[in-house]
This record gives sequence, C-alpha cells and structure tokens, in this order.
Amino acid sequence: MGLLGLLSKLFHKSGSSAKSDTGAVKMVESKRKEEKSVADKITVGHVHMSGCTGCLVSLADNYGGLLTILDRYADLVYGLTLADVRHIPKMDVALVEGSCCINDKCSVDEIKETREKAAVVVAVGGCACYGNITRFCRGGQQNQPQHESFLPIGDLIKVDVYIPGCAPTPQMIRNVCVMAYLLLKGNAEQKALATSYLKPLMDLAAKGTEACFCNLMTEVINQGLCMGCGSCAAACPVRAITHEYGKPQGQRDLCIKCGACYAQCPRSFYSFDVVNNYEAILGAINGALQ
Ligand code: SF4
Ligand code: SF4
Repeated sequence: MGLLGLLSKLFHKSGSSAKSDTGAVKMVESKRKEEKSVADKITVGHVHMSGCTGCLVSLADNYGGLLTILDRYADLVYGLTLADVRHIPKMDVALVEGSCCINDKCSVDEIKETREKAAVVVAVGGCACYGNITRFCRGGQQNQPQHESFLPIGDLIKVDVYIPGCAPTPQMIRNVCVMAYLLLKGNAEQKALATSYLKPLMDLAAKGTEACFCNLMTEVINQGLCMGCGSCAAACPVRAITHEYGKPQGQRDLCIKCGACYAQCPRSFYSFDVVNNYEAILGAINGALQ
C-alpha cells in the first residue's frame, strides 16, 4: 500500500475523538472543535539517532509555534529529551533526527522498531537524510571508540518524507508537522493542500540517500536550468558554494553532503503543484497556527 493510501486508512481509523468524563473538560473540547475545522490530535515521536542535536534546537526555535502545535495538533508520545517514555510506542508520525551507527546494535534495533511503530517516518535534517557530517566520522571517540560507521536512515529502512538541511529551518519542520496533521485529520481541501506540499518531500525521500553539490551540477546547472538566484549558496552551512559570473561554483572538498543546496534550489525538485498552490498552502499553515 502506498503512503497516501496508508495515511488515508489511518485517517478513517482515527476519526473519533476521545470522550472525557467531566462536563468541564467536555466544554473545553467542544470549544476547541469550534475553533478549528479539524478533529483530534495526531501522535508524534522524536527519535534521536547520531548527530549534533541541531535539528532539535531548530524544532525548539519555533517557540510559540511549537507550543501551538503541541497544544492543538500533536501529542508528543516519544522523545528522549521531552517525553518520559522508555519504549517506542505506536505513533502516527516519527520525526527521526541523526544517522544510524551500524556498529551499535541498539541504534540499528531502534531505527527498525521506529519503522515498525510509525505510520509515517520523517527524516529530519541532513544526517538522517544523507549522512551529512557523520559520514566523516572515523571512530576513536571516548567512550565509544567502536562507533565509526554511520548511515543515513534511508539505507536501513523505508523513509516517507525528507526534510533536508543542516539544520532544516524551524519553519520547515513546523510546516511539515502542520501539513502532516492536515493530511491525517483535515477536511478534503486541507488534505489536498497538504498532499501538494508534502509530495516533493516524499519524492526526495524516494530518490535516495546521496546528496552533494554534484546533484545541482548535474541536474540543474548542466541542464541549463540555473537562473543564478543564489539560494543554494545561501543555504550551504559550510560556505562551500560561491557565485562566479552569476552561477554557483562548488568547493567539493568542503561539502559535508547535507543536501540543503539541492533542497533549496527552486529549479531542482519543487513541483508546479507547490508553486501554483503557494498562497493557499501558506494560508493553511498560518491559519492553523493562529
Ligand atoms: S554544497 Fe553545501 S549545501 Fe550543498 S550538499 Fe554540500 S555542504 Fe550541503
Ligand atoms: S539555487 Fe538553483 S537556480 Fe539558484 S543559483 Fe543555485 S543552482 Fe542556480
């Protein structure tokens, strides 16, 4: 079954809202339902593999927006830093940060269990998507000298959605959370917008776990598609891209393979669906967070 089919099944299964015992709680719940045109929350977990924790910092940098998401749209059911839960529970969406150390059986088991328990697996950030800086680890670190081989999670499990970047912007993580909610719980129009928004990120996940400046070179610049906008250079966290005569030049020995340049390039993978629905998508996200 495809991801959209699975999500649709999940949506129908989780259509009923929790009943509360007290009148006061019922009043609060019904008031909440009046305030928004969507039903109950989705369950979300944060699975922390190997990385620098910058993606979690970026998630937290949503400040009030994060509190709104946790208040109205998502129950955090797993997260080493934010939830006191020892075992990975079943959940709608797993936000996985970091790559997986294949020398560590616990890490390999954890990512496989995440895949079994989560309906949707989202790779958050360059390490989870492409390996990023962890590809360059050589082991020898005290007190885990045996840790030396790190793979992007897509090399071990099927991943549904990619959010590239080192780290991805707070807005990008927030938008994916809101869109995942609207896809699972929204009305028909909201589900269509969420599908438009998430489809390119699903396509990116299906594309593979390799990314570097070479992707821009072969798929955009060499194809005559580059318009010299500079988005790739602005996105590169290690300043590996400069602009010469209006075209990007990559210093490949600096590239940490985070995929941010390719993800931010408007000529790489974004679909006309996103461009044509841009105002409506923005309206749906802003409306959900008001
Ligand atoms: S060129 Fe920069 S942005 Fe692009 S993959 Fe390499 S490090 Fe990331
Ligand atoms: S982001 Fe894409 S279109 Fe813009 S300068 Fe870079 S390669 Fe060219």
